[in-house]
Amino acid sequence: MSKKIYFGTNLKMYKNIHDTVSYLEDLTRLTADLNRDEIELFVIPSYTSLPDAVKISRRELVHLGAQNMCWEEQGQFTGEISPLMLKELGLDLVMIGHSERRHVFRETDYEENKKVLCSLEHGFTTLLCIGETEQEKEYSISNEILRTQLIAGFHGVSTDYAKKIWVAYEPVWAIGVNGKPASVEYANEKHGVIRKCLVELFGEEAGKLIPVLYGGSVNPGNAERLIEQPEIDGLFTGRSAWQAEAFDKLIRSALKKLGKMV
Ligand code: PEP
Repeated sequence: MSKKIYFGTNLKMYKNIHDTVSYLEDLTRLTADLNRDEIELFVIPSYTSLPDAVKISRRELVHLGAQNMCWEEQGQFTGEISPLMLKELGLDLVMIGHSERRHVFRETDYEENKKVLCSLEHGFTTLLCIGETEQEKEYSISNEILRTQLIAGFHGVSTDYAKKIWVAYEPVWAIGVNGKPASVEYANEKHGVIRKCLVELFGEEAGKLIPVLYGGSVNPGNAERLIEQPEIDGLFTGRSAWQAEAFDKLIRSALKKLGKMV
C-alpha cells in the first residue's frame, strides 16, 4: 500500500468554541467521501474548544490534537496543560515546538525534548515542528539547525516510538501573515535533509516511515506542486485551511495532482 498523504491545520488562537465546532462539522461533512486509507486529516483547535470538538467529532475522519503540552503530569506549573488532562479528553495527537512556541514564547530544544518524551510516553501521536529562521538561512546553516532540532528534540526517544512520530518542517520565514512560501525545490531539499537525519536517528526502516509535512504559507497556488515533491508527505496549513470549503478544495486538488481522486 502506498504511503498516506497528511493534511492538517493548527487553528492557533483564532477560532472560539462555536466557530471551531461549525468548522469541524463542515470539514467532516465536506471530506467524508475521501478514503481514509489514503489520507490522514487532523485539526488542532484551541484548548478551550477541545472538549466540544471532541464531543462532536467523528474521529475516524478527523483526528484532533492539542497545540502544546507540559512535560509534567501535575505540579506547580501555572497556566500549563498536563498530559493527563489531554488524555482525559482522549486526544489523538500533541503538537510540540511550533514556531510561535519557540520564537514568541522562547521554548528551547531542551524543553521540546522533554515534551516530546512525555507526549510519547502518554501514548499521543507527537508532531514535532522544526524550522530555521531567515537569518539562519542567510548564514547557510539551515541544515545544521534542522538537524540540531531533530537530534535534540528526539534525544532519548527509542525506535519503538517511531510509529507515533510526525514531523512538520515549517521555515520560520515562511509562516503566517508576513511569511513567504519556500520554493518547492527548497522545501523538497530540506525534507531530504530531515529524512536523512530521521534515518540516522531511528534506522532505515523506521526513519523512512515517519511522515514529514511541509508548512508555511501553503495556499491553493502552491499546494499541488508541494505535494508532488518526492520528499514531502503532507501539508500542514494555516490560513488557507481555516475555511472548511477552502481546505477541502486544497486537499482535493492535491490528491488529484497525485492521481488519488476519482
Ligand atoms: C503555521 O503557522 O504553522 C502555518 C503553517 O501557517 P500559514 O499556513 O498561515 O503560514
